Amino acid sequence: MENQSPVVYFVIPCYNEEAVLPETVKRLTEKLDSMREKGLASPESRMLLVDDGSRDATWSLISGFHEKNPYVEGVKLAHNRGHQNALLCGLMTARESCDCAISLDADLQDDTGVLDQFVEKYLEGCDVVYGVRNKRDTDTWFKRTTAEGFYKVMKVLGVDVVFNHADYRLMSRRALEALSEYRETNLFLRGIVPLIGYRSDYVYYDRQERFAGESKYPLKKMLSFALDGITSFSVKPLKLISNLGILISVLSVFGLLYALVSYFAGWAVSGWTAIVCSIWLLGGLQMLCLGVVGGYIGKIYSEVKDRPRYRIEDHLKNEPKD
Ligand code: UDP
Ligand code: MG
Repeated sequence: MENQSPVVYFVIPCYNEEAVLPETVKRLTEKLDSMREKGLASPESRMLLVDDGSRDATWSLISGFHEKNPYVEGVKLAHNRGHQNALLCGLMTARESCDCAISLDADLQDDTGVLDQFVEKYLEGCDVVYGVRNKRDTDTWFKRTTAEGFYKVMKVLGVDVVFNHADYRLMSRRALEALSEYRETNLFLRGIVPLIGYRSDYVYYDRQERFAGESKYPLKKMLSFALDGITSFSVKPLKLISNLGILISVLSVFGLLYALVSYFAGWAVSGWTAIVCSIWLLGGLQMLCLGVVGGYIGKIYSEVKDRPRYRIEDHLKNEPKD
């Protein structure tokens, strides 16, 4: 039975996760054992922990697990490159050995109880399986509202993202090969993966509370991630700017006509308020528009440099055992 089971890799980016790692590894080890029993995972299946340049004991923990636990493999990045790059590094590393890879967070927020369903869907022939959150009641009101706003903006801009799906997903080897062809520096995986286009399905789950430690996504990082998502996948904001420019130009023609008429008719008023208001309004709009254009130019700048997205400092790999 086990011969036909797929080689499954769990890919887990870890940044300063010493508080949760022991529990994460314990749970995923039990999971791999039970998946092997059910014929859902082969003995070569592994969990690949990617240390994203942590400053705490994360890497020494990973090395320790690797020595004792044959399921554990580790990759150490030379710098902190952010969740998306760490995840990509893990997926590209796993691609060399796996039939399918499932990405999940180190903090056990992605419910490990539904992992079997991902592999079942893979065995039914899906190349991508998206984990979708049933409800967001473990989030704060603020995070929930901003997340909803984000998905709405993406929809209006015509970007294909799966609603309430973060980065809990399974990808087949074929899908990982396809992913490797997307070379962008400004990574937004949940926008790229739907572009791959192979057969996909969903698994629904309830997001848990963080098991231990603190969120590594403070507000500032979250907002810049959302902006990255929008500007990497849509040029509509640029078009909106031109439309806004046209609208304002048309309105100002009317304003000019009104000013001329009132001047010649002799009922011109001092007009100070109007002038000040328009200066502020136009000044503001111009700055906003320049900001948007600048944002895109900045992206082009970082893309043309085509710098490596991550650098691997160390790789702890297990040769097949059992
Ligand atoms: N993470 C990472 N590099 C970073 C920030 C986060 O690899 O620079 C990892 C982190 O260890 C976790 C996952 O990304 O496994 C999600 O981060 P977190 O749980 O802090 O985000 P939240 O769930 O609060 O959005
Ligand atoms: Mg989390």
